[in-house]
Amino acid sequence: MKNFPKETRTCIACKRRRDKNDCLRIAKLSNGDIFVDKECKLGGRGVYICIDNTCMKMVVSKHLLNKSFKVNVNKNIYDCINEKLEEN
Ligand SMILES: [Zn+2]
Repeated sequence: MKNFPKETRTCIACKRRRDKNDCLRIAKLSNGDIFVDKECKLGGRGVYICIDNTCMKMVVSKHLLNKSFKVNVNKNIYDCINEKLEEN
C-alpha cells in the first residue's frame, strides 16, 4: 500500500511545514483584496499560518502578512486573526 504524502503548507511565522488542515489560509485575490480564507475556498495567492497562538500572535505583532503579500494589509485582517486567537 502506498503511503501518500500529506498536503503540507509552510507557515509564514515559524516556517515549519504543517498539514494543511492545521493551517489558516489568508488569500490575496487577483484584484488585490485580501481575505481570511476560512474555508480554503477562495482562489488567488494564499499564505498559511499554523492554527497556533504563538504563530498567529507573531503574524499580528510583526505584520508578517505585509511582507508576504508585499502590500500594507488592512488592519481588519489582523483583527480577524486576533479573533481566531480568542476562540482558542
Ligand atoms: Zn507556525
